[in-house]
Amino acid sequence: MKRIKLLILFLSVAIVSISCQKAEEEYQPTNKTEEQKRDEVNAMQVSPVATDGNMVYVQLNSLVYRIDMKNKIAEINCGDMLCDHQGTSCSARLPEEEIEYRLARNGESVYALGNQIFQIGQNSKKEIGQGHYGHYGNATIFDDYIAYFKEPDVIVVENIENGKEVQKFENITGFVQGNFYYDNCLYMITAEQQLVRLNIETGEKEILEKKGATRASLYDGFVYYVKVSENMESNHLVKMNPGTLKKENITEGVFYYNMLGDKLYYSTYPERKLYISELDGKNPVDISSPNEFDMGSIYTFSELGAVMITGRDVYDYRVLDENNKVDYENEIILKQ
Ligand SMILES: [Zn+2]
Repeated sequence: MKRIKLLILFLSVAIVSISCQKAEEEYQPTNKTEEQKRDEVNAMQVSPVATDGNMVYVQLNSLVYRIDMKNKIAEINCGDMLCDHQGTSCSARLPEEEIEYRLARNGESVYALGNQIFQIGQNSKKEIGQGHYGHYGNATIFDDYIAYFKEPDVIVVENIENGKEVQKFENITGFVQGNFYYDNCLYMITAEQQLVRLNIETGEKEILEKKGATRASLYDGFVYYVKVSENMESNHLVKMNPGTLKKENITEGVFYYNMLGDKLYYSTYPERKLYISELDGKNPVDISSPNEFDMGSIYTFSELGAVMITGRDVYDYRVLDENNKVDYENEIILKQ
């Protein structure tokens, strides 16, 4: 009888400790207001460019640069005049791994995501987190969590601080064009060019676009993506309401796009122009003529009120001037 009591005592202690441990590993959904959700900076993450709301950080060939957009000055993000920026102790140098590091904003900070996570500040780089962060790139950082491909077709969501897994999605093969977090869900483009939504709380997977989706992003509470037709002859920009899943074709021939304020900026293919229009695609104006736009990326920074585009060379960035024209005269050059 005493043994049974002991056993019961032991089991109940074990159950209590198991449930405590489990609770610790559970995903804590964020309860944000509609306005907070809409303010989340998630468009086109993760990319080589991210801002903390003050400076713009750019990652290129394992080096982090810092751009002062007001003065159009780019510097290596290292304050040490004697540093050759080669060693990993340099605040501008990221480890050279199989997967390239990418920058992402989370809250007021910029992070470099790769096999480790670094928090990037002015002339500083600090490793954080205890997880492993996979070998397949494509990580998404949000609140206290990171989602990444642990294997080519397995995404896990981990608590950054303690490295504990809170959710796992299998049979999803990642792709590179536009993964983001919104309202407790991960939105991803898969290798089959599907747009999928993964609910971190429930573990559910939904297919929002069956094929031809690329470059997904979030802006002002709406999901945007480019839908490429099977014969590659058309590429629409689609705007989708993530609540009703109602889709709208906004504009055609879109190669790359981004938004700032109530404007949409997009480049076209095969025409190779840069346009500005209303968010619904109305009233497009060519802002690249007489030049061609060289198929670069478009980055927008709401706090800085700035639009930056990549030039012919990956080391060259240009900003739009106050008249929304490409400033061809003043390039921002990243110096090696
Ligand atoms: Zn250095």
